[in-house]
Amino acid sequence: MIRFDQVSKRYPGGHEALSRLSFELERAEMVFLTGHSGAGKSTLLKLMMLMERPSQGQVFVSGQNLNRLSTRQIPQLRRQIGVVFQNHQLLFDRSVYDNVALPLLIEGYNPTEAGRRVRAALDKVGLLNKEKQNPIVLSGGEQQRVGIARAVVNKPKLLLADEPTGNLDPALSEEIMSLFQQFNDVGVTVLIASHDIALVRRLKKRVLGLANGELAFDGVLHNAANTE
Ligand code: ADP
Ligand code: ADP
Repeated sequence: MIRFDQVSKRYPGGHEALSRLSFELERAEMVFLTGHSGAGKSTLLKLMMLMERPSQGQVFVSGQNLNRLSTRQIPQLRRQIGVVFQNHQLLFDRSVYDNVALPLLIEGYNPTEAGRRVRAALDKVGLLNKEKQNPIVLSGGEQQRVGIARAVVNKPKLLLADEPTGNLDPALSEEIMSLFQQFNDVGVTVLIASHDIALVRRLKKRVLGLANGELAFDGVLHNAANTE
């Protein structure tokens, strides 16, 4: 589903954010990406969406070599990828429903089909009863669930999340992770950047650990007692 082959990224005037990074994610895997601030997590996610391009090496998403995609083909790539942000980037000038519907309107869905999909997405995150509300009145956890509904409304095969629980308490963080697990259970490939090591440990998933732009760890984290 995803392959990084000797990928390096150097920002203009900066040092290397990623250095010769290679890894693969299988279809329907759920994997965490960890590492300190500045380790390169956001850069890695941006390369998959072509928000940045590598300085060296190749990135493959669903068999497509992203180096071969032109700027014109970027929207077609991004339609295959749902993205969840820490600050969820919701629009507070419209309802929950309209926030979730936005990606579908951009793609030109007719209102009936869009409505069906929006309600299905809101149902999956348990917010069907809030569709008419403005997201500003919702709790932090609910706002993040609206962000997730928006990310999955066009049924992407790949779901990326950048610190999706960064602003949430432990109980809400667990809830959000179990939502990602539900999408993973139906075959969606999920990659979640998180520096909440305690949470990641509990979930016992594959972890890619970045340190200074290099892959420092690839495996499952066990109890604190038998690692590090
Ligand atoms: P993380 O998400 O793990 O915090 P980032 O990918 O944001 O790491 O950053 C990795 C490194 O690249 C850091 O040193 C950061 O300062 C640098 N960096 C990130 N984005 C840019 C940019 N647009 N221009 C220059 N340097 C950047
Ligand atoms: P994160 O750790 O979540 O990546 P940051 O605060 O490091 O958040 O980065 C916020 C934004 O600023 C990102 O879009 C990142 O690419 C950009 N950025 C990060 N470091 C630099 C930098 N040294 N120079 C320019 N832009 C940067």
